[in-house]
Amino acid sequence: MNIRLVRLLSYIWASPCTILAVIPGVVTLLLVGSLRRVGHTVEVGVRHSQEQVPSWISKYPFGAITLGHVIIGQSHELLTVLRPHEQVHVRQCEAFGPFFLVAYPLASLWALFQGRKPYEENAFELQAVQKSGFTEKMSEIT
Ligand SMILES: [Zn+2]
Repeated sequence: MNIRLVRLLSYIWASPCTILAVIPGVVTLLLVGSLRRVGHTVEVGVRHSQEQVPSWISKYPFGAITLGHVIIGQSHELLTVLRPHEQVHVRQCEAFGPFFLVAYPLASLWALFQGRKPYEENAFELQAVQKSGFTEKMSEIT
């Protein structure tokens, strides 16, 4: 199959996840954030460097979140560090498509049901950490 067609289908398949990025992405841009295209994703950062991030945002427990093909982070500097982890989540969204929106919370519930941590031991997070070597949890980055 043509690689461009495969890419187009992956955008369409993951689009229910990507659409969820519209509101937080616009809010981030209204906070004087900026966006940049990186490969087949769009990264939205509140500021360029982590030093410039307002304290009320830098205290947020997570450095970034991936919604389909959009990755929203505290800063572009941090997004560069977290890119390998977030790209794993992009691949997960591409694989599961709209079902990722159900599969991720179910994986958290499954972890919780087994007496494990619903975020850190969510199967999708474990895979992202395993493949990238990074977590996006700020307490483990800084
Ligand atoms: Zn993650």
